Amino acid sequence: MQYTSTRDKTLSVTSSFAIANGISPEGGLYVPETLPSVDETWLTDLLEKEYPDRAEQVLSLFLTDFSAEELRSAVTGAYTNGVYEEDWAAPLADLSDGRFVLELWHGPTCAFKDMALQLLPRLMVPAAKRALDGKQIMILVATSGDTGKAALEGFCDVEGVKIAVFYPNEGVSPMQQLQMVTQRGGNVAVYAIEGNFDNAQTEVKKIFTDRKMIDRLAARNTVFSSANSINWGRLVPQIVYYFSAYADMVGCECIKQGDPVNFVVPTGNFGNILAGYYAKRMGLPVHKLICASNSNNVLTDFINDGVYDANRDFFTTLSPSMDILVSSNLERLLFELTDRDSEAVRDMMEQLSKERRYAIGDEMKARLAEDFWGGYIDDAKCQTVIQNTLDDVGYLVDPHTAVALGVYDDYKAATGDTYPAVIVSTASPFKFAGSVLSALGVSQPADEFAAVRMLAKQTGVPVPESIEALENKKIRFSKVILPDEMPAEIEAFASNIK
Ligand SMILES: *Cc1c(COP(=O)(O)O)cnc(C)c1O
Repeated sequence: MQYTSTRDKTLSVTSSFAIANGISPEGGLYVPETLPSVDETWLTDLLEKEYPDRAEQVLSLFLTDFSAEELRSAVTGAYTNGVYEEDWAAPLADLSDGRFVLELWHGPTCAFKDMALQLLPRLMVPAAKRALDGKQIMILVATSGDTGKAALEGFCDVEGVKIAVFYPNEGVSPMQQLQMVTQRGGNVAVYAIEGNFDNAQTEVKKIFTDRKMIDRLAARNTVFSSANSINWGRLVPQIVYYFSAYADMVGCECIKQGDPVNFVVPTGNFGNILAGYYAKRMGLPVHKLICASNSNNVLTDFINDGVYDANRDFFTTLSPSMDILVSSNLERLLFELTDRDSEAVRDMMEQLSKERRYAIGDEMKARLAEDFWGGYIDDAKCQTVIQNTLDDVGYLVDPHTAVALGVYDDYKAATGDTYPAVIVSTASPFKFAGSVLSALGVSQPADEFAAVRMLAKQTGVPVPESIEALENKKIRFSKVILPDEMPAEIEAFASNIK
């Protein structure tokens, strides 16, 4: 299968090329030229399989220039061997009231980004061998929290790759910062940036396309690539868990094969929910994809009104990984909604970058509404949901998952839909222990680890090992730099390490 670009349909590249390069030269995102479709037998084949085998079955439809051995080795490395607790990467918890929680945070960094970022490096290395003549790769990541750590952990000590992560100084949670600055590995670098996430992101984007920087790295036989969710290699692993969740529901006889289910997804950059959309288009019996937002509700308005307008106040919320006003992966959905019209997509993206706004017509809006429903809740509601979920069903959730649960309540009230729903759970509550404690009416201790221990004591839920281990780790990275010092730091890093 070949891949094309959302902004230039004349392009045709292999999956290796798309994954090794990350983004298309004209700024578009790589998408499969056609979506594979699956049938009953294919779905039945998933039922008896372990998670890594399910992953292999899905990936083999998309990554057709990878050998069976390469895919096998990638899924085994990513989802077994102690990377995931109990070798089951995406367990489903039944809340016994038609709601199922898909727990995607049992990986090394306790957030769902591990699902893709444990696999991406294992795809990128063989991809680079084929598509980049074995050149070295320099991954640059601007992060507002979860992506940075998950990418560091995924690429740690991967041969032929170096990774530099930039986070806003004082712009990430204490736990997220600690996770990053204590990162192990000989091929990693972590920098705090004087400025906010947008400053870091803007500078990274500039460096990616800076001819002089590209040439200087080329002189060291190195090319830039991206581990952000615009990379196809981060999207395709996410398609797997939609199928896996469905297979588990059939497996527990909670549904019959072919029955429709809903998925509720706490959404920021639109990567997670987009993978669900691809699964639906491939033939997974999904009724609605419910897009859940916090007060940064630009996607709710887009789904309801057909106008994407990022000219609005930005809120810092209890669910920081969803504090986003420009959702990059929506571009891939627009490509599908326009029947793959790359010129139309390019026009909309130009409008977005000039005016921070674009609108879609009635026909596209109607197609959007066939698959999606959008809603949002604010922080106060989010806290209520955390408390009520623990009280009512004895289940502890983080603020991002709580947003999904809250929006699902609104969806049910608005539509009366009673199909079973999978709530996609994106982070361990211990990653946001302070916020969760205050939602439960317990005053937050100043120390992050005291909060973690107190949350465990209050709820009886055990602390994930990787968070417990963090307390005694040495800080390795304490550099704080200005955005315009980033190019020099990257060059120094490129030349220092073998
Ligand atoms: C990244 C992230 C999200 C948002 O996912 P998108 O793919 O950007 O929509 C939600 N919750 C958590 C905990 C995350 O880390």
